[in-house]
Formats: sequence, C-alpha cells, structure tokens
Amino acid sequence: MQLAVTRPTEPHAVTKARIAAAVEAARDEILDLSHRIHANPEPAFEEHKAAGWVAETIARHGYVVQHPAGRLATAVRGTLRGGAGPGGRVGILAEYDALPGIGHACGHNTMAASGVGAAIGLAAVADELAGEVVFLGTPAEERGSGKQFMLDDGLFDGVDAALLFHPSDMTEVEARLLASEDVDVTFHGRASHAASEPWEGRNALDALILLFNAVGLWRQQLRPESRVHGIILEGGSAANIIPDRGVARFMVRSPDQAYFEGMRRHFRELCEAASLATGCAVDVEFSGRSDTMRHNHVLGARYLANMQPYGLHDDPPSDNLGSSDMGNVSQVLPTIHPSLAICDRGVPGHSIEFREAARSARADEVTLIAATVAAQVACELLTDPALVAAAWREFRGAGA
Ligand SMILES: [Zn+2]
Ligand SMILES: [Zn+2]
Repeated sequence: MQLAVTRPTEPHAVTKARIAAAVEAARDEILDLSHRIHANPEPAFEEHKAAGWVAETIARHGYVVQHPAGRLATAVRGTLRGGAGPGGRVGILAEYDALPGIGHACGHNTMAASGVGAAIGLAAVADELAGEVVFLGTPAEERGSGKQFMLDDGLFDGVDAALLFHPSDMTEVEARLLASEDVDVTFHGRASHAASEPWEGRNALDALILLFNAVGLWRQQLRPESRVHGIILEGGSAANIIPDRGVARFMVRSPDQAYFEGMRRHFRELCEAASLATGCAVDVEFSGRSDTMRHNHVLGARYLANMQPYGLHDDPPSDNLGSSDMGNVSQVLPTIHPSLAICDRGVPGHSIEFREAARSARADEVTLIAATVAAQVACELLTDPALVAAAWREFRGAGA
C-alpha cells in the first residue's frame, strides 16, 4: 500500500493527502517505535520506556507534552493547537502495555505507534486545523483500566472525540466489548502439619478449589457471552503444610451492563460460600472496571469512509469478544475503537502467534494506515464544527 499515492476520501482530500504523505515520510520513525516497544514489553502501570519514547516523539513534532500526566507515572498528554483559530478538541489515543510473561500478544505496540503516527500526520497540517489535537498516551489497558484514572484526573476534559484502533484478526469498525472487572480473592486459613495434626488446619487451597468448582458449575446457568475466568496466584508452599493462604485472580465479564452487576454480586456469594465451607476468612477485591462500549456511529461512519481508499472494509461480524477501558471513555464522550486485521482470521489474541503478527510487515502497514485514517477523521472534525456537533447530538441521544 502506497499511502502517499492513494487518493483520500472527500471532504478535504488535499489536506488528507498531506497527512498521508507526512505519515509516509515518518514511516521509519513510526515503525521503529512500534518495534522498540514490541521488543521491550512492559506490563500495566510499568510502561516507563514506552511512555518515555512516545512522549519524546510527539514533543519532537511540536506537541506540548505533560509526562507524567495526572496520577499515573506512565500516562502522557500532549497538545497541539491548530493555526485556523478556535474549534473542537480531538483526542488521539495510544496504548502501550504488554501482557505479563507473553509480551505484546495484544499488539499494543501498534496502537502506540499508530497514535504517534496520527499525531505526526496532524502536526504536518496544523496550519489548516481549527481547535486542538489532544494526544493521550493511556497506560494499563490489560489490567487496571488506566483510562478511568485519566478520566478521573480530568485529562479528557473538553475532548470532543476519542479515536483509537486495536489490532485484530479481523476488521470491524464497531467491534462489541464486554463489561469487565478484575477480582482478587484471598482466603485466609490456618497452617498446620498435614500429616501429624491436619485437623488443626483450615485449608485455604481447598477454599480456592471450591470456588473454581462453583464457578465452573455456575457457567451452565450464565447467559451466552458472559465470561468468568481465573488463575491461582498462591496455593500453598509445601505438600506437608495445610496452606494458610490462597490467592486467585478472576475476571468477570458480560455484554449487558445490568446483568454484569448481578454477576458481580453472585461471584461474591460464591467466595463467601467457599469461605463458609472451609472455615477460611475471605477478602474479595474488585478493581479495574471496564464498561461496555457505546459506539459513536457518526464517528464510526467517517472512519469507515476514510479507511476504504486504503483497501480496508468491515469483515462479517464474528463471535470474538473482548473488553477495553475504551468503553469507560465511550460513556463520557463520543468514541470509536475500530479493530483492523493484522493477520489471518482465526489467529487468537493473547497468543504467541498474535505476538509475532504484531511485528510483521502486515502489522506495520496497518499501523501506518491506522495512523493516517485516525488523523484524517480528526482533520474532518477539526475543520467542520457541524460534524463535532453531530457526534455530540448522537451521544446525547437526539440522533445524528
Ligand atoms: Zn488489547
Ligand atoms: Zn488484550
């Protein structure tokens, strides 16, 4: 795909062609960032290198940068004023956290690079834009919902639209997202010699096993597309000691926000049941909540129109369901979170194959296209106040 020779979608095709040319000219800088982040995976809240590189790059392209931004050490906020006077504010987002143990198996390196690429493309046409580009480097998507902290810290205040893409095995502008929350469960029992006086112990591992069995049976009665899944983090230290401490981390998810609230309540009851059965005390701690996604169709339609010249089209819908703290943003302002294919259909996310795909030549091309298309949608918003108004009208429920 030759970004610079493809004719962009109207309106403002000439300015959009300049955006594409600027992204193309920065190809090496953008893809070097993607590969560097991929080679240096950092989990949620620890993305110090990635955030530093992202902040450095946008500063080089004229953004006024806050880093850290708000309470999170690895959050970045950069702003760039357009030269055509006051107007809207468009948020260009970038994620960069990796998964523990497996690295960039969710491909967030491509999201960091495409966000930075979009920022570079917009900087090249800033003289023609009204209003402001707000670049937001958003940590901790895989765990912890970093965007919620950034919302609470006021870093999205005044932003009229939030644009972000996610790599996938399929292309879908309005991919569905499940509400989701992490749950840390700790059972406190009593240690004792497992052979000489087992009756003195209270077995925290038994409590975990009961909880996993209860969750397994509960799944039969759950609505389709709801999810509960977990791992054991601590389950004892020696076979001849009754474990006095058992720790698990679960995630609870549902496509329906109200049903999700009921699931949270019942999960807590299952923890209490396991506690009662084993005589172990239990702590249940929910955190890092992600909401369901409210797609803004006004923005989604513009994304779809702008991606078509680059040969991208929506695939037929799939059963793949994930979650993202982009859902939280979508409850507050007009938001899109399109998926773009970087590999063949059927390659699962969070796998070694997907991690390898995230640094492939195909992922690189998609990263550059995602940068270009996000910047082109931002360009429309920053030259046409009526489009910003239409996105907000839809968000507020009055129709587009
Ligand atoms: Zn992801
Ligand atoms: Zn992920």
